[in-house]
Amino acid sequence: MKKILVANRGEIAVRVIRSAKEMGIKTVAVFSEADRNALHVQLADEAVFVGPAPSNQSYLVVANILAACEKTGADAIHPGYGFLSENADFAKEVTKAGITFIGPSPRSIRLMGSKIESKKAVAEFNVPLVPGTAEALTDVKEAKEIAEGIGYPILIKASAGGGGKGMRIVYEADELESQMGQAIREATSAFGDGSVFIEKYITSPRHIEFQILGDQHGNIIHLFERECSIQRRHQKVVEEAPSTVLDPTLRQQMGEAAVNVAKSCGYFGAGTVEFILDETGKFYFLEMNTRLQVEHPVTEMITGIDLVKEQIKIARGETLEIKQEDLKIEGHAIELRVYAEDPANNFLPETGTLIRYQTPKGLGVRVDDGVEQGQAIPIYYDPMIAKLVAYDIDREAAIKRMDRAIGEYEIAGLKTTLPFGKWLMGQSNFLSGDIDTHFIEKHFDAAELQNVSQEKMEVAAKVALHHFLNNNRIQVKQGGAVHDGSENKWRRRRNHV
Ligand code: ADP
Repeated sequence: MKKILVANRGEIAVRVIRSAKEMGIKTVAVFSEADRNALHVQLADEAVFVGPAPSNQSYLVVANILAACEKTGADAIHPGYGFLSENADFAKEVTKAGITFIGPSPRSIRLMGSKIESKKAVAEFNVPLVPGTAEALTDVKEAKEIAEGIGYPILIKASAGGGGKGMRIVYEADELESQMGQAIREATSAFGDGSVFIEKYITSPRHIEFQILGDQHGNIIHLFERECSIQRRHQKVVEEAPSTVLDPTLRQQMGEAAVNVAKSCGYFGAGTVEFILDETGKFYFLEMNTRLQVEHPVTEMITGIDLVKEQIKIARGETLEIKQEDLKIEGHAIELRVYAEDPANNFLPETGTLIRYQTPKGLGVRVDDGVEQGQAIPIYYDPMIAKLVAYDIDREAAIKRMDRAIGEYEIAGLKTTLPFGKWLMGQSNFLSGDIDTHFIEKHFDAAELQNVSQEKMEVAAKVALHHFLNNNRIQVKQGGAVHDGSENKWRRRRNHV
């Protein structure tokens, strides 16, 4: 493997490029019209233009990605997360073109991409499942009978679901018909597949997931858990490792179950097995994500293992050097997803320009981002600006470090989830680890953000204005190759604002 094309953008493209460089492997970035000057383009050895800003005309166009490989001679593709990362057909096309796909087999991706099929597969490997249906449902009468059997409340889910879409909670039999209709419609429009199924709704669950690594020779290990219960709209905002609720016995049981899930689909590569854990300590398999996860850095911090390097080594056919018994949890890591969203306004996505962007520094602070000051946050993609990770010897110290780091982080030009993070780090029930997936709904009051951010915002606004008025200049710098089909081909731009 001599040259990796990263079929992604933003922080994850930067993240992959960094590890590849450390391994002495050349990198190729791809970019859309909106990302011409993006950090991932600057950091890669070469960059190829793949189309207009909307991802379905650029980052998702398989032919353009493969053409970029051909043009640059890239012999491997890392898909990152999102975009084409869980597209089995893409993985197949890549392999057919003689390029190494840094990820699992198309078969594993396909099997785990279906919530219904994956449940069937793991059931044979003794993995506990949330009580519910094993088949897709369309008939309301049948659904009603099953729901009676399970007992309300129940959850209707889309088999092809993701990102919390197509999920409906039903509290009473009367609501089932209309909710089911809506779930089917939502699933059809979002995923082109209207199959839904029913699960028992666990009222106060924690979301606990396990990091998996498997090589192509049948060795599979887990790298412990991540607690991802702080969610809004069924989507994670804060993750940490380890979880406060897992004792060594439960950790071992869940870890074994996670390894079994991976075995059930002949998994290789890095993957994540998601569970929900109820108040009594019972855990149930939710799904497996067959790619690198957004929150993978917290696992890297507590294990010292670079997951991207492991992915690359596995894709090269190497045998895992790490043994399960060698792994140890060291310290505690917390990640805050810094989204361009307004926490005071129901986490509504924001657009705008990073007039001021200054990241925190210092011991135990890691910022994974793909942006620079002066850059606009495009509306076309995920609104995540960065991931702020704080690491220290234990949870209490990691929380204090996160609080300090958020205080140092300066973003002006658009609203972000930073004030929410600051609020969270001061909550006594978060400090005591008393959390579940409803934490934000139950405890978060946007009015409390005023106190957290007012003073800081005023200072940031003044600094930003000063900066913007006095220092706004762009320098053009020579650098790596950019293939964008335009006249001035060999150029690299860097914005010094
Ligand atoms: P998606 O693939 O859309 O993200 P998941 O199945 O991973 O869907 O679930 C996302 C989140 O929804 C979980 O983290 C959890 O908060 C909630 N959830 C999923 N299934 C259940 C359930 N049976 N009971 C309660 N909450 C659930």
